[in-house]
Amino acid sequence: MSTDSGTHDAAPGPGGSGEHGGFDEVTILWISEGMSCDGDTVSLTAAGQPAIEDLVLGLVPGLPKVNLYNKVLSPTLGGEEFLAPFRAALRGEVAPFILVIEGSVPNQDIIQGDGYWTSFGNDEVTGEPLTLNWWIDRLAPKAWAVVAAGTCATFGGIHAMAGNPTGSMGLADYLGWEFRSQGGLPIVNVPGCPIQPENFMETLVWVLHHAAGTAPPPPLDHMLRPQWLFGRTVHEGCDRAAYYEQADFAKDYNSPKCQVKVGCWGPVVNCNVPKRGWMSGIGGCPNVGGICIGCTMPGFPDTFMPFMDEPAGGSLSSLLIKPYGAFIRRMRGITNAAVNREPKWRRNEPALTSGYDPYWRA
Ligand code: SF4
Ligand code: SF4
Repeated sequence: MSTDSGTHDAAPGPGGSGEHGGFDEVTILWISEGMSCDGDTVSLTAAGQPAIEDLVLGLVPGLPKVNLYNKVLSPTLGGEEFLAPFRAALRGEVAPFILVIEGSVPNQDIIQGDGYWTSFGNDEVTGEPLTLNWWIDRLAPKAWAVVAAGTCATFGGIHAMAGNPTGSMGLADYLGWEFRSQGGLPIVNVPGCPIQPENFMETLVWVLHHAAGTAPPPPLDHMLRPQWLFGRTVHEGCDRAAYYEQADFAKDYNSPKCQVKVGCWGPVVNCNVPKRGWMSGIGGCPNVGGICIGCTMPGFPDTFMPFMDEPAGGSLSSLLIKPYGAFIRRMRGITNAAVNREPKWRRNEPALTSGYDPYWRA
């Protein structure tokens, strides 16, 4: 895997920003036949700002008309009726389109044609299954933008763990980190296991605004994640961060205190979920008692396992903060008790003891 350091800017390409005046209509071809559980599509259905239905119904101002083809959200009964727009895109009859890949990409080469890891429809002539790789090889070069939905598609995820037999990888590992779409965009990675619904919708809306010619390309970090969504750590947005600062650590999962000693990786993981919540602003792993297991990160899951053990860095930082935290907690306890009293002059007595000085009286 090779990556650039720094941020990625889109280089204007055919149909890209600066060369097109904006599209009135964009098709989204969503293939969830990567190695996955379809959890990203399921998660997406919880989005509300905007909802995927709002997009398809044209209720978001300024966006092109959107034609969405996703198997879980399709009104077709599947089969050839569902595959038709994908086959049309292969023939060059659908443009512009955004290719969304959900799930990691297995390595077909390692089994040398002896079967397949995952497929999407059959070859119309031979009836043989068409692999995910076959579709990506043909559709990605034609796509105006390519979006990876979820950690499996972005970095490989659970299917790409050490010791796996499939050789699975993320889309950027498969296509190359320098890949540029027809719109001049790098792959847009939206990690999360699964995607946080609004994170994905916000990214998609930005890409669609860019397609409409009304927004610049989405700013991405060196792992091709939207900067504005993944630029902060879990810890920086966590409801429990004050407990950490006071060295007040949970010893089990029934506690409202900081969970770093029971396995939370929040201080070093890029994710906005504690700030944003999960559905309608509610939830957000550590906020509601779940340790952060780094599911948005390139090294997930191997780097963060075993999940419930204290991270090595966590034991050092929690040790260092102990004297400061214990002292500050004690001091704050004393001050808190002091500021929880009413001033002594608030009494129902004949004499005014507030210190008020009626200076104009003799
Ligand atoms: S629970 Fe995790 S993210 Fe929250 S304050 Fe503790 S270490 Fe940080
Ligand atoms: S807080 Fe951690 S576990 Fe939860 S979604 Fe973010 S990265 Fe994943």
